[in-house]
Amino acid sequence: MSKLPFVTKQQVEEIAKTYPTPFHIYDEKGIRENVKALKEAFSWNKGYKEFFAVKATPNPFLISILHEYGCGCDCSSYTELMLSGALGMRGEDIMFSSNDTPAKDFQLAEKLGAIINLDDITHIEFLEETLGYLPKTLSCRFNPGGYFSLGTDIMDNPGDAKYGFTTEQMFEGFRILKEKGVENFGIHAFLASNTVTNEYYPTLARQLFELAVKLKEETGAHITFINLSGGIGIPYRPDQEPNDIRVIGREVQKVYEEIMTPAGMGDVAIYTELGRFMMGPYGALVTKVIHQKHTHKEYLGVDACAVNLMRPAMYGAYHHITVLGKENAPCDHMYDVTGSLCENNDKFAIDRMLPEVEIGDYIVIHDAGAHGHAMGYNYNGKLKSAELLLQEDGSVKLIRRAETPKDYFATLDGFEIYNKLMEME
Ligand SMILES: *Cc1c(COP(=O)(O)O)cnc(C)c1O
Repeated sequence: MSKLPFVTKQQVEEIAKTYPTPFHIYDEKGIRENVKALKEAFSWNKGYKEFFAVKATPNPFLISILHEYGCGCDCSSYTELMLSGALGMRGEDIMFSSNDTPAKDFQLAEKLGAIINLDDITHIEFLEETLGYLPKTLSCRFNPGGYFSLGTDIMDNPGDAKYGFTTEQMFEGFRILKEKGVENFGIHAFLASNTVTNEYYPTLARQLFELAVKLKEETGAHITFINLSGGIGIPYRPDQEPNDIRVIGREVQKVYEEIMTPAGMGDVAIYTELGRFMMGPYGALVTKVIHQKHTHKEYLGVDACAVNLMRPAMYGAYHHITVLGKENAPCDHMYDVTGSLCENNDKFAIDRMLPEVEIGDYIVIHDAGAHGHAMGYNYNGKLKSAELLLQEDGSVKLIRRAETPKDYFATLDGFEIYNKLMEME
């Protein structure tokens, strides 16, 4: 199966006249169509809401597009809360799903009226001391431990994850919160990441719905939402079958009608906190081949590096690559596609079959729309690239400028060396 980029060589050549490579570009049309399909898939649930996981792509322009469709934000840090607040989100538009949370983060979350999702039973006391009271609505993050499996396939290892309450702690936590006057309860769990199967959500939903019924029966808690969180993945590889969100929505509905409705819980809202699924495929890193090296292997040196997209270096993650203008050429050359960091893991691809590449060719690294630009860092003093939006009418809008040396040295402003640094460019 082939995987084609949402930009052409001609478009990129035109864009690069104004915005030199490397840059991240996002596909507005794709983002809109996907969020509409998601909403439609869960339209059977009256209270359904997606809280976009801000950490995946913390760009206000992109978040605003999702907000048009009623999506809120899932935040887990002070600055993510600031970003959501600045976009006008308040109260039920913000889910604060943090862990190891500093007091001032809880304070800002409460100031914005965010729904707080507690990561640990000890955070009940911490939050009460921080705020001087407990909010009327609280959520608890659940971690059943062990492995999360679908049939015989182990999907992930929650038993090794730092997040959430154990099953016993969920019951104890709900009892304590109820005694302390909390009125509305939520349940949250994120048990497997980047699942490319329609079965993850329905399987997770069954676990959480069964837990919710028991929690209600045994503690009397009024459960108002169940948060299936993130984890719906995307097909990074061209041979992977993409998830079908309509099937996922329908299967979750079946489980809901089987477990929740008969328990008198047919009014409980379903929440999601998708990140990757909302943005991943609709963002690409565009970079140019600036060197070719023939030593023990064949290397393509591009003008982007792991600072622009860290997933291959960090997790050995596969990102599909298209050489623009050579979409239909045979992939009969093997290359390592490298960045410029002084780290040998700075490779976007290893032993990748591509068409014959020349210096000056533009390369699209696919599926960089989530956990891409956001994960960037400044190692080797490298600067983060710009973010562009390919709008529905085909025009391009700058939605974050590229970093400059001044940004890199900003934290030395006020020190004696700063003026000298500024004279160096
Ligand atoms: C990262 C994260 C998400 C989003 O995960 P994706 O894999 O991008 O869907 C959602 N909720 C929480 C609490 C997270 O940490």
